[in-house]
Amino acid sequence: MNILVVGSGGREHAIALAVKKSPLCENLICAPGNPGMANLGRCVPVDVADPKALADLAEAEKVDLAIIGPEIPLVAGVVDEFRARGLRAFGPAAAAAALEGSKAFSKNFMKKYSIPTAAFETFTDLASAKKFLAEHPAPIVVKASGLAAGKGAVVCLTDKEANDAVEEMLGDKAVFGESGKTVVIEEFMEGEEASLFAVCDGKDYVLLSSAQDHKRVFDGDKGPNTGGMGAYTPAPVVTPEILSAVKSQIIEPTLKGMAAEGSPYTGVLYVGIMVTKNGPKVVEYNCRLGDPECQVVLPVYDGDLLALFDAAEKGELRNFDAPASPKMSAAIVVMASEGYPGSYEKGKEIFGIEDAEATGAMVVHAGTKMADGKLLTNGGRVLGVVGTGKDLQAALDKAYEACGKIRFEGAFYRKDIGQKGLARCKK
Ligand code: ATP
Repeated sequence: MNILVVGSGGREHAIALAVKKSPLCENLICAPGNPGMANLGRCVPVDVADPKALADLAEAEKVDLAIIGPEIPLVAGVVDEFRARGLRAFGPAAAAAALEGSKAFSKNFMKKYSIPTAAFETFTDLASAKKFLAEHPAPIVVKASGLAAGKGAVVCLTDKEANDAVEEMLGDKAVFGESGKTVVIEEFMEGEEASLFAVCDGKDYVLLSSAQDHKRVFDGDKGPNTGGMGAYTPAPVVTPEILSAVKSQIIEPTLKGMAAEGSPYTGVLYVGIMVTKNGPKVVEYNCRLGDPECQVVLPVYDGDLLALFDAAEKGELRNFDAPASPKMSAAIVVMASEGYPGSYEKGKEIFGIEDAEATGAMVVHAGTKMADGKLLTNGGRVLGVVGTGKDLQAALDKAYEACGKIRFEGAFYRKDIGQKGLARCKK
């Protein structure tokens, strides 16, 4: 098969690595790709936010299946464009991607289908939002309804923070623009978070291994939120009981509900859950694989991922022979540029990737570029270093050993990835 992977981050490099392992993959094109993906296939520059340009590329290259990494093209309707032109793309149509693209839509959807989530109200005017806050003291969570690159959710521990957050979104400043013109205010949920990924074909699904990520920039979950500084799989907080509740109370009703709404969900459904004392509740849906979690979840999948995505796109998961739960653990440690998630410098030369890979670890490119034959930093999150092993400790040891081999000016990474999971394993 001719495969097109759309995107240019760590997630798409991880997808390309998994696809390349499949005997079904004869030819791999990455659009636009990154220096890591360039080692696996041909990279073609394209605007990923332009569904027509992506479909043109797929037509010109006789692509059999496109795998769409990021949410922006999905929410923009790339899958609809492909289908309308008789092309195949794995991912949800725009109406189904609204589960991520509009929190107002996803929260109302969960309410309608009795899917456990935080109690909420939506607002489009500042005065009503403030009145609601006056009646509902902190802690409380204020979210911009639309896409906001991971910055649109504010967990407010004081009433002032909550008032400031609605003011920023619904007031004159409108810091999130259109995305923040509808605001969801929701109950604060207490518990531990985890991520689940269901590969869906509209009716049936195959669940990948559970994961937990580390959002804060510094050890001990200190400092500001980031795109994710590390992750591991499986997540021991997702016990067999929790998993069974996630399937029957969240994933299955979500698939049934979306089909009933006339938007059957095909693609990866990411469910971020809070494991509360009353069971799992949905924090958010995403309409694609999570980054960095997919960089640990894909390598431990004990089968052919391309065959899985292909069967899901065709609506053939009912008879798909999915492998049993993985026997391996994996951990990723993200190496970032000094200053991230604030401002940082780019263009620092990166050394030691081959030595890192020689340890058996996998090095995923998230923010790199090639210039004059040199590999340079080109983002806040630069590399993901992935270790696999028979258990979480072995996976972490491998990842950290490999991190020790990589150098670039200003490089930093968290030293406590997976500690929460290890503590749970010891209980
Ligand atoms: P964006 O729209 O900008 O991409 P997001 O999708 O990242 O935002 P969420 O995932 O909904 O936003 O929330 C981000 C984080 O905020 C969660 O991972 C969780 O840690 C915290 N959070 C969100 N909602 C709640 C809640 N109701 N109770 C407690 N914590 C929450």
